[in-house]
Amino acid sequence: MTSRPGQASLPPGSTIGVVGGGQLGRMLAFAAHQHGYRVAVLTGGEKDSPAGTVAEIEIAAGFDDEVAIGRLLAESDVITWEFENVDAGIADAAARAGLEVRPSGKIIATAQDRRAEKAALQAAGVAVAAWRSASSEAELETAVRELGLPVVAKAARFGYDGKGQARIERMDEVAGVWQHLGSQRLVVESVVEFERELSVIVARTRLGEVADHGVMENHHVDHILDSTVTPAHLSSQRMGEAGVIAARIAEEWDLVGVMCVEMFDAADGLIVNEVAPRPHNSGHCTIEAAPASQFEQQLRAVVGMPLGDGSCRPAAMVQLLGDLFLEGEPDWSRVFAPSSGLSAGSGLSAGNVHLHLYGKHEPRKGRKMGHMTAVGDDPDDLRDSLVALRQALTDR
Ligand code: AMP
Repeated sequence: MTSRPGQASLPPGSTIGVVGGGQLGRMLAFAAHQHGYRVAVLTGGEKDSPAGTVAEIEIAAGFDDEVAIGRLLAESDVITWEFENVDAGIADAAARAGLEVRPSGKIIATAQDRRAEKAALQAAGVAVAAWRSASSEAELETAVRELGLPVVAKAARFGYDGKGQARIERMDEVAGVWQHLGSQRLVVESVVEFERELSVIVARTRLGEVADHGVMENHHVDHILDSTVTPAHLSSQRMGEAGVIAARIAEEWDLVGVMCVEMFDAADGLIVNEVAPRPHNSGHCTIEAAPASQFEQQLRAVVGMPLGDGSCRPAAMVQLLGDLFLEGEPDWSRVFAPSSGLSAGSGLSAGNVHLHLYGKHEPRKGRKMGHMTAVGDDPDDLRDSLVALRQALTDR
């Protein structure tokens, strides 16, 4: 389809084909619907998935189901991703069908293999932790000797939320870690001594326009993102560097869409840990804190519209995991009367807490069921208050 300057190459009414049926796809669908676009999702198998229940078309089939992929391609005018750990064959099939894939299959394939990802990050000229790849126990041992202890060993493919990872502190742990990680191809990294973990969510259009949402500061519990504040506690110089790094990767990789660049803030500079070629939970607060959220930016980049203003007001986000549901449904009424569950002076009012639930039917430990966001003046106060509010949700 041809595009004239200033006009979306895909007009409203077009269908955005989304690979993945999770909450990121759900929130993309909300943004797409706001602008008059339709959404088709391939869920990976789940029926009534978070994205599928709000999309026009839910295809509840596996990512390797050729008939289902064919249907997604037939229904869609462009393909994008909310989940990248799928066979990039979907992208090849889309290309054969003449559909644009945004971000490209090449970026997806790079991001799902830590070895390819590290090499592509280095090629883009950004700093990563010292690393080696290892495909046998002997290679793992050599890598540890070359890098020096301690190291983190990570499954090269399809790792997320700390799954398929182990820290090695002593040489005699090598054999156990090799077995524990399933004797598969690994990336072995030096442990980075960092002050904080950061992320920058960057959007880029096919015309090369780039925008980010500032720098998020992330706190993980058991390898799962627990809370985010923005702006991060950084000097303005380092803040600028983080934006430059994200933009450089987006440009060098020829991103069209949105990606999240996760970084460590270390004493001698910013070190890129990994890239997710899609919106990210550290960017949830952009829905309320920025004029254009990460999902709106994804939509705009994917359909070929100019980007919006992604700059964020100070904000905090806390994740709501299935752990909260272990003794039944949390008491959501407390969200809308937060003072009832909190000490005075918490900084929250019923008017500035935003509850998002993803419509998942089965709460499981560690499963992301929703999140809460607050926008205000002091992101740390907001985060502390949201953490206390989350605690109060399960006080019986
Ligand atoms: P990842 O799956 O690569 O995002 O790693 C999960 C978490 O493990 C990160 O958020 C860090 O807290 C920690 N981690 C990963 N790689 C390193 C490293 N090279 N040095 C120190 N901590 C790390």
